[in-house]
Amino acid sequence: MSSFDEIMPKSSVFKNSSVLSPHYIPKTLPFREMQIMEIMKLLSPAIKGQKPKNLIIYGKTGTGKTCSVKKVMEEFEKLNTDARMHYLNCRIYNSRYRILQRMLKNYAPELEKTGFGLPYLYEKLVDVIKKGHQIIVVLDEIDMIKDLDELVYTLTRVNDETQNGGVTMIGISNKLSFKDALDPRSRSSLYETEMVFPPYTSEQLRQILAQRVPEAFKENAVEDSAINLAAAITAKESGDARYALKLLLKAGEIADQNGKEKITDSDVEAAREKVELDLVGETINTLPEMHQVVLHAIASLSIKGSRYSRLEDMEIEKGFLLSGEAYEEYERTCERLKKKARSLRWFKEYINDLEMLGLVTTMPSSKGIRGHTTLIRIGQNPEDIYNITKRNLFGE
Ligand code: ADP
Ligand code: MG
Repeated sequence: MSSFDEIMPKSSVFKNSSVLSPHYIPKTLPFREMQIMEIMKLLSPAIKGQKPKNLIIYGKTGTGKTCSVKKVMEEFEKLNTDARMHYLNCRIYNSRYRILQRMLKNYAPELEKTGFGLPYLYEKLVDVIKKGHQIIVVLDEIDMIKDLDELVYTLTRVNDETQNGGVTMIGISNKLSFKDALDPRSRSSLYETEMVFPPYTSEQLRQILAQRVPEAFKENAVEDSAINLAAAITAKESGDARYALKLLLKAGEIADQNGKEKITDSDVEAAREKVELDLVGETINTLPEMHQVVLHAIASLSIKGSRYSRLEDMEIEKGFLLSGEAYEEYERTCERLKKKARSLRWFKEYINDLEMLGLVTTMPSSKGIRGHTTLIRIGQNPEDIYNITKRNLFGE
C-alpha cells in the first residue's frame, strides 16, 4: 500500500549529515595539534629549498593520520613556495611505476599516457629535481605498494644524483609489522623519522563527536548520554574516530526512520551492528575486482564449509579452509564470471592484501595436512561478505 505519508518529507534530526562523512575535515583537529605541528616543523626545510627527512607515520585505523597530513597540506598550499606536496592513496597507486607517473603529472603532462618506460620516468624526475624543486610525496597506506623497496631505492637514487632539490617521502601505515617486511636498506632510509598516532580515549572521542554535533544536527536533537555512549563503545572497540562518527550518523538515521525527534542511547545501540557491516562494505567496495573475486570464493566456500573439516585425521580448526581448495573455488568463480584465473602465486598475493585489510586471516597448517599448507579463514560474517561481493561482481 502506498500513501501520501510515505512520500511526504519527514522531519529529521539532521541539519547537515555530510559533516559526519569520512571526507569532511573539520577546521581544527582536537588532540592532534602536536602531531600536526611536528610534521610542519619536519617539513619546514623544504620551504628554504632543503630536503626534509623522510617520515613514517604509524597508527591504527581512525587515529587521524590521513586528516592530520591533509591539514598540513592545506597549510603548505598557502605558502608561496616552489616546493610541492603530493598526496597518493597507495590502494590506487600501488606500484613504483604508477607513483612516479602520478608524481610527474604536473611537470610532464605527456606522462599521463602509458607506454613510457621506467628509465624515461626516472630521467624526467631527475630533471625536475635538478631544477631545484622539492617534492614531498605522501604515500598513504604505503604497505599496499607491491614494490616498495624498489620505489624507495629509486627515489633515494634520484636524491643522490641531484644536488639542490630532493624527494621526501611521508609514509602512512596501519600495520606495525610492515616495517619488518622491508629490505634493511629501504627501511633505514624510510624510517629517518617516525611518529606514532595513539588510539583516541573515550573522553577524546566524546569531544571529537561533540565538535561536529552543532553543525550536523538540529538543536537539541542529540542527547548528551547518546554521545557519551557512542564514544564509550568506540573506545572499547578500537578508538577509531571513523567508527564513532559512523555510529552517530547511523543512530541519527535510525531515529529518523522511527520518527523520533531526539537521538537516544537505544538508537546508538541499534546503530552498532549496521556500522560494522558498513565499514566492511566500504573496504570491499574499494578493492580491485580480482581481490573481490578471491574474497567471494572464500566467502562462498566458508558458507558451504571446508570439504576437509569433517575428516577425522585432519585437525583443521573450525572455519579454516585449505588454501588449495580456496584456489579451486576461485577458479570456478572466475569461470562463472568468464574471467581468466590468475596463477596460484597471484592468488597468494591477493590473500596477503586481504589479510592486511582484516578481511581474512591465515595461518600455516600443522604438520601432516598434505605437508605444509596455508589455512585461510574469513574475517567477518561470510554471508555478509558473500552478499556484498556478489552484488559488486554479478549485479543484483
Ligand atoms: P586514519 O587515516 O588514521 O585511519 P583518518 O584521518 O581518516 O584516520 O580519520 C578518520 C575519521 O575521523 C575522519 O573522518 C576524520 O575527519 C576523523 N577524525 C580523526 N581524528 C580527528 C580529530 N582529532 N578531530 C576530529 N576529527 C577527527
Ligand atoms: Mg588513513
